Amino acid sequence: MSRYRTFVSAQDTRGRGLTSQRARDRLVVLLRESGIRHPQVLEVLRTLPRHLFLDEALASRAYENISLPIGLGQTISQPWVVARMSEVLLERQPRKVLEIGTGSGYQAAVLSRLVEQVYTVERIEDLLRQARRRFRALKLQHIRSRHDDGRLGWPDEAPFDAIIVTAAGEVVPPELLAQLSPRGVLLGPFGPPSEQKLMCYTLDDQGQAQGEELASVSFVPLLGGVL
Ligand code: SAH
Repeated sequence: MSRYRTFVSAQDTRGRGLTSQRARDRLVVLLRESGIRHPQVLEVLRTLPRHLFLDEALASRAYENISLPIGLGQTISQPWVVARMSEVLLERQPRKVLEIGTGSGYQAAVLSRLVEQVYTVERIEDLLRQARRRFRALKLQHIRSRHDDGRLGWPDEAPFDAIIVTAAGEVVPPELLAQLSPRGVLLGPFGPPSEQKLMCYTLDDQGQAQGEELASVSFVPLLGGVL
């Protein structure tokens, strides 16, 4: 037993402890200090292993509050952004959520522990394949994924109570607004590339989108076509 303990602490000093439960606990303390309040969101970030959504070479940085590369020029979002977007979305108590930009799959995985049904669309097939492998390995239920241009949404499954866009567009794709349920909410980074804002859109009684600015952010671009 004592030999085992020695072994673990030796690994800790070389960084393996950086993917441990303690590392996740520290991240959650930091998120709470940065204004994240929703207990369920904090609990999901405390328990879901973000390092499994990264290449092994970057796993030791998984519980820093930063975005990190996932290959093919894309990034896994910063934990604070994932937490904040999840928190805002949950205010509306959505049952059915559509995510645009699966990437590593981390945001979809977080949502799958908070809402009944998650749909996610990714334009880069190779990233989607890896994300699906992670969903299976973690036995995450109720995530359906699709390889497509997410600017078009997922018309066959519409309407959605919430749509979360995790890549930055200059404007909100009208196809997405059209797939919102009447009391639905659309959350994502929009605006000119140098002035991206995390926006929250809801539909008024006339079906017009009303936007509220939540934060300044920096996401990879929402692009057309599939790879
Ligand atoms: N939610 C992701 C963030 C990934 S970065 C995560 O938790 O890891 C944004 C992702 O959006 C990238 O993988 C990028 O390929 C994808 N993307 C960009 N434009 C897209 C589009 N039109 N349709 C679907 N996915 C898109």
